[in-house]
Amino acid sequence: MQYIKNYINGELVEPTLKTYLDNYNPATGEIYSLIPDSNEQDVELAYQSAKNAFKEWSITPKEKRSIYLLKIASLIEKNLDKLALAESIDNGKPLKLAKMVDIPRAAANFHFYGTGILHYASQAHSMEETAINYTLRQPVGVAGCISPWNLPLYLFTWKIAPALAAGCTVIAKPSEITPMTAFLLSEICIEAGLPAGVLNIVHGLGAKVGNAIVSHKNIPLISFTGGTATGKHIASIAAPMFKKLSLELGGKNANIIFADCNYDKMLATTIQSSFANQGQICLCGSRIFIERKIYEKFKTDFVAKTKELTVGNPLDEKTKIGAIVSQQHQQKILSYIELAKTEGGKILCGGTQINLTDQNKNGYYIAPTIIEGLSYDCRTNQEEIFGPVVTISPFDTEEEVLTMANSTQYGLASILWTENLTRSHQMANNLHAGIVWVNCWLLRDLRTPFGGVKASGVGREGGFEALDFFTEPKNVCIKM
Ligand code: NDP
Repeated sequence: MQYIKNYINGELVEPTLKTYLDNYNPATGEIYSLIPDSNEQDVELAYQSAKNAFKEWSITPKEKRSIYLLKIASLIEKNLDKLALAESIDNGKPLKLAKMVDIPRAAANFHFYGTGILHYASQAHSMEETAINYTLRQPVGVAGCISPWNLPLYLFTWKIAPALAAGCTVIAKPSEITPMTAFLLSEICIEAGLPAGVLNIVHGLGAKVGNAIVSHKNIPLISFTGGTATGKHIASIAAPMFKKLSLELGGKNANIIFADCNYDKMLATTIQSSFANQGQICLCGSRIFIERKIYEKFKTDFVAKTKELTVGNPLDEKTKIGAIVSQQHQQKILSYIELAKTEGGKILCGGTQINLTDQNKNGYYIAPTIIEGLSYDCRTNQEEIFGPVVTISPFDTEEEVLTMANSTQYGLASILWTENLTRSHQMANNLHAGIVWVNCWLLRDLRTPFGGVKASGVGREGGFEALDFFTEPKNVCIKM
């Protein structure tokens, strides 16, 4: 049995109490490794190490910080197969997806911020002959970074890379459900020669480790990605302590399909935006609205294509839908399918747990599920399910679909399918969302602001916005 270790002060260490939690392989339902059940003492050790490292790291020239980040990026690329396999086993996602998306994007995060920091400039404001102002951008301090289980290394590094580039040192906590690639990242950082204490990774439960990071009186900044309820709890602790907060939270994204779209492209992408990663991507379009003229055709084609998706062992090349991340989450998704039925929903396909055979017989699988006949304001269409479950509903006018799309507490992403340019602009302008994809989904440009409105979060990641977050502006005014 493999023991995962914490990464503190440049070393792989056991948790102080030497207690461990079980780590499950969701494809088989078996315990395959053990995770440190760390506590406040471990967070304190990590804090002391990060605090000491901050003295040097915060004044290390950005060119030198960049070299470390680029080295980590290339080691992630070199270890692509190993990391992708680890991610697939830990999370249940198809190995192919981890190889094509998760791990390359994790490397890209380090690459982007390793080079981005070299182009990060601050402003000057001249008062003609009176004075000159210039803005210093100084790293905030020890940053607390907490990430979820759905895109484990990808989202973990999306926080760590800009924090390190900006000159912060970091205490990071991956989800206890998917710790393996964070552990492998600590080995990579050691190989890259990252100075001791610059990055510290403390494994364990959110309620213990996460909470200790959030409530630590000397950690001035928290970058969190996860559920809205957890984000609310974190804000209630961090806000009265005047911490800087970045919250990337849940979503209930609308996928709006007009009759004038490029139908084949839309259909192929809609399969992805509905079911990729078993629907466990915060950006998935789980509420699909279709212009009535093409509703019946779409329904027939979408159901047929969904039925072709192979649910299976994540390590199998043919698998399109892998395992749900945990038994608990599987049960939550199934309970939402039951709720949809009681709300009057008709299950067009899926709707059940899938029992595979042999070594996967105890794994957590759900057939991709399409539901119709629900009102836009019922619970199934308002609450985040975060699984391979979508609803389809017809609409007649732009106004009507905007009302339905904007009706949830969330506002993360929207997807729009139309060949009408004017309509694209109008709809994009009126959708309550931090991101609008038109005729595409999950296209990624790391320079763009990433995040949501309403209960989907506070602040933006990506581009220079993340470097702004991890630095504090200080204006210096010099009288002429
Ligand atoms: P959670 O909110 O349950 O957990 C996220 C992280 O927070 C985990 O590391 C968790 O640890 C930790 N945590 C839990 N409780 C606390 C606490 N009291 N204090 C500090 N940290 C805590 O989310 P999930 O892991 O279930 O992830 C799924 C959610 O994430 C979905 O709602 C999804 O929409 C959202 N998400 C948002 C994204 C975005 O960019 N907006 C991107 C990806 C996901 P532990 O695992 O041990 O509980």
